[in-house]
Amino acid sequence: MQIAIPAERLAGEKRVAATPETVKKLIAMGHSVVVEQGAGQFAAAPDAAYAELGASIAANRAEALGQADIVLTVRPLDEAGIAELKTGAVLIGQLAPYQNSSFPALAAKKVSAFALELLPRTTRAQSMDVLSSQNNIAGYKAVLLATHYYPRFMPMLMTAAGTVKPAKVLIMGVGVAGLQAIATAKRLGAVVEATDVRPSTKEQVESLGGKFIEVPMTDEEKAASDGVYAKEMSDDYKRRQAELVSKHARAADIIITTALIPGKKAPTLISADIVAAMKPGSVIIDIAAEAGGNCALTQPGEVVVTDNHVTVVGQFNLPGQLAADASSLYAKNLLTFLSLMLTKEGFTLNLEDDLLAATLVTHDGQVRFPAAN
Ligand code: NAD
Repeated sequence: MQIAIPAERLAGEKRVAATPETVKKLIAMGHSVVVEQGAGQFAAAPDAAYAELGASIAANRAEALGQADIVLTVRPLDEAGIAELKTGAVLIGQLAPYQNSSFPALAAKKVSAFALELLPRTTRAQSMDVLSSQNNIAGYKAVLLATHYYPRFMPMLMTAAGTVKPAKVLIMGVGVAGLQAIATAKRLGAVVEATDVRPSTKEQVESLGGKFIEVPMTDEEKAASDGVYAKEMSDDYKRRQAELVSKHARAADIIITTALIPGKKAPTLISADIVAAMKPGSVIIDIAAEAGGNCALTQPGEVVVTDNHVTVVGQFNLPGQLAADASSLYAKNLLTFLSLMLTKEGFTLNLEDDLLAATLVTHDGQVRFPAAN
């Protein structure tokens, strides 16, 4: 099979969908790989590193995609990219299924497209889970970004010139990103608190040395909120949560928000009133900015400083800021996923496989997402 790796087109996207390490494995399996010129240049993967392994370097995207049976991407292809695909090609990447309007165009080209965000959260899928590998990086980078804007130290310091208090960090949403943010902030010496709608996260927070802030819940709410993914909570729960958060947010120096609900706008957890009550110099890093943000004052993609000197950071794509490691982990996720279909002889698509069936958004001329219930 011919496998193509186009350069990403989205502004600021520095990741690449295959690294020299994964390309080496694909070539060893007997496939040919074509990489668009410069595809890995921001991810510590120069063209020469791919070429040395036997990949061919295409001068432009049309040349890379034109003959490819399989195309690996980080982000959805734009309209021109879809036009450059071969009819019946396979496309694998983070295809943003809840926002993407190009599925009819992919179906019209009989493309079999896989959106990896739709992988079920099962043990078998763990090694392919791009949300985990990338959110882990986002959690880490969020803390480093906070240290950049925070005008104080993170750890406690006792110096001849006086004692510096440790930073108080509040993490909201304890998924993969939140857990890594807790661990990173702890390593830097901060005092860490965290909260989540899923009560089962309490133990995880405590095992990392954080303090769990528990929003009182009815038995009904507990039962409803303890799945793998959070559900949208009732207005009454949101009110109780806001009251509690308001108290802890006032005392926090840094807040990192990561709360997401798949396919929906991110819940607002920090109101303008809460921000107004925060201390000057405090920082909010809103990892959910791309999904609308968890803070009412987040400007998606921007950094704003409020009148009371709180910095609210809504930068997009934190994993892309660690492009080399983000690409390396993402590329391994993709290779593992692709291995479900690649054989020595070529390629088989078994729709009985739950991982393939859940992620396949277009196939055989049809759009399969959202699936009819
Ligand atoms: P996510 O990115 O979807 O959301 C981040 C966190 O925000 C979640 O913990 C969620 O409960 C929380 N949240 C949502 N709404 C909230 C609100 N209103 N207030 C406070 N918190 C709120 O989460 P994720 O990182 O994708 O992880 C979700 C779960 O999936 C975790 O338990 C994780 O361990 C699990 N997981 C399983 C697998 C697997 O088995 N293959 C892979 C990855 C993650």
